[in-house]
Amino acid sequence: FCSLDSKIIDDGCDLTFDSINQINSLIRPYLIDLIEQDYFKYFKIDLSKNCPFWDNENDKKCASQNCVVDIIEDINEISNLPFYLKNELITNLSKLDSKNNLNQEDQFLDKLIGEDCQKKKYDSYLFSKDYCDTNEESSLNSVYVNLQDNPERFSGYGGPQSNQIWTSIYLENCFTKEVSSENEHLANNLNFMSRIDDQCLEKRVFYRIISGLHASIATHLSNEYYNPLAQNWEPNLQLFMQRVGYFPDRLSNIYFNYALIVKSILKLSKFSDHLNICNSKVIQDKINKIADLLTNNSSIDIFHEQLLFLEDSYESIYLKQEFKSKFRNITEIMDCVGCERCKMWGKIQTLGYGTALKLLFELPSLNDIDNNNYNIDDYDIDEIIGNLKRNELVALINTFDRISKSVQSINNFRIIYELEHQQQ
Ligand code: FAD
Repeated sequence: FCSLDSKIIDDGCDLTFDSINQINSLIRPYLIDLIEQDYFKYFKIDLSKNCPFWDNENDKKCASQNCVVDIIEDINEISNLPFYLKNELITNLSKLDSKNNLNQEDQFLDKLIGEDCQKKKYDSYLFSKDYCDTNEESSLNSVYVNLQDNPERFSGYGGPQSNQIWTSIYLENCFTKEVSSENEHLANNLNFMSRIDDQCLEKRVFYRIISGLHASIATHLSNEYYNPLAQNWEPNLQLFMQRVGYFPDRLSNIYFNYALIVKSILKLSKFSDHLNICNSKVIQDKINKIADLLTNNSSIDIFHEQLLFLEDSYESIYLKQEFKSKFRNITEIMDCVGCERCKMWGKIQTLGYGTALKLLFELPSLNDIDNNNYNIDDYDIDEIIGNLKRNELVALINTFDRISKSVQSINNFRIIYELEHQQQ
């Protein structure tokens, strides 16, 4: 385990582990409450998409019960709706006819959570601000899942198949432009990087996001590990140490992702009145509440995204496009995952990070927003915020919960580890 007061991070973030632990303890109860709300617990997903990169038709699928996704097939599962969702349902009922191709339950849920209120669609890929495909929720093959009924935990998925997925994901980290000397120089001057190697800042950030996601998944599967002897789900310290605890860089990448998500939510809150979704007032209030808690308890400089894609040059624009399309590939690799439950959480979290990246890199910096020091014509706020889909918001908040749960679990593992070592 790393020392709690050591700096996590560099590469654009200069907090300590302990400062993020403190923020997390404060925010955790509110976040748990948020993801249990109807708006954030139903996710619409297409689990039937073909793997676009290789033929996995004949691969053995994980048949364990732990790999299954329990989809919503019965509308009676939804009871005790909060007032605003009931209201939404009533006001949208008249639109039901236009969706004859969907089954009745999906139509009901579309109304329930306000799918039809999406007023605009943004389909152009080439000039898209998106870091992933955000249109999956409109697919006719998409189904609704209740995320609370399908926890991310040990599934037993592994071996050459999952190895192939992780290898392909890390291979996306090969960029054409290896070194961005301008960025390197600036970041060094600002003392945000302690590790100097031959990779540019953008490439390192890309790697850390993937590695942080990988380590976070490993933390969850170790924290909720099925012990066949006790027939119980319980933390498995040995597994955690082998996958994450003995690797300071993996631990630090989890915290790095935490800072990245927090900063994106702070930015979102500045423009939440541009949200163009159903119940936007209710959701706006919830996002602003979480942002207030974060602002009051952390520095807005938790993550310095403004250090990336700095140069006003063709190379920098190209690098950003490359970053986007490579991240998009990663989200599509998720369709190759042979365990449905893992695929589901993989898709949610890559969509969550994709949404965070869009907010971080396509909006002005927080300092500029606060000081009104930006030209509104340079940013298409309506395209970035107004076009955010419900699924993107649900993914962003649930990804925040996943990384926040990982931080909490790491601290539990630290306690178990220290207890075990005291006894020896
Ligand atoms: P893997 O985790 O498969 O790692 C492969 C190699 O990558 C390692 O040997 C190591 O060299 C390197 N590596 C490992 N971690 C990192 C890191 N953080 N940063 C950089 N490099 C690293 N299993 C479950 O039980 N539950 C789940 O919910 C689940 N979700 C998954 C979601 C996805 C998208 C994928 C691809 C897999 C998922 N799995 C899940 C499987 C799990 O991630 C492992 O692949 C599996 O447990 C086998 O682990 P392993 O020890 O072979 O190493």
